[in-house]
Amino acid sequence: MVVAIDGPSGSGKSSVSRGVASALGLAYLDTGAMYRAATWWCLHRGVPLSDVDAVAGQVRTLPLVMGVDPQHPTVHVDGIDVGEAIRTTEISAAVSAVATNLQVRAELGRLQRAEIESARVRGRGIVAEGRDITTVVAPDADVRVLLTASEEARLARRARDVHGSDDAAAVEATRDQVLRRDADDSTVVQFHVAADGVVTVDSSHLDFDQTVQAVLDVVES
Ligand code: C5P
Repeated sequence: MVVAIDGPSGSGKSSVSRGVASALGLAYLDTGAMYRAATWWCLHRGVPLSDVDAVAGQVRTLPLVMGVDPQHPTVHVDGIDVGEAIRTTEISAAVSAVATNLQVRAELGRLQRAEIESARVRGRGIVAEGRDITTVVAPDADVRVLLTASEEARLARRARDVHGSDDAAAVEATRDQVLRRDADDSTVVQFHVAADGVVTVDSSHLDFDQTVQAVLDVVES
């Protein structure tokens, strides 16, 4: 079984996708982590992100290994564990520049389809999450879900993740970054509106367990 889940920043996509994969005994692929790893690698190699051809060249030879265990997902680049390094505010601010490079999207899309195919061949199945999985990477997935949440809920979630609090100051500190990244990403991928055949799950008023259950209900329907 292949489950594709898309959604904007702060929709709870990653944790919910891991919960769904664990519940169903499936592998888990975080495609956002692949864009983040590509960004980390280019910065590590001193490649200016504005040089689209140089960035694409680096990504074509990206020595990336994704660990797809939902209980313990890992990301290695050139043998280096970059699981934490790709979550910094520096990478979050830079990642859209790489993700809007169409050559990069073609290359990472190819790697993502290969991961999905390899899970399918091993008979295990996979939950793949990102921005264009339901539409571009795996439009033929068995289950396709768009996980949304109100702007207020998304900002509060991201503030809790990044600042450990969702008080007004923490939400304000998060607002610019989250909304700017979504606006930049939206220039190449549409992930605010469900494509045909994609089921929308709105998590604004659901807690984590309820959201996982809502996606499992879609899988079982
Ligand atoms: O999901 P996460 O916030 O970690 O994704 C990081 C970035 O990766 C997004 O802001 C977007 O630029 C890019 N991305 C993408 N397509 C995907 C997954 C992520 O463009 N399928």
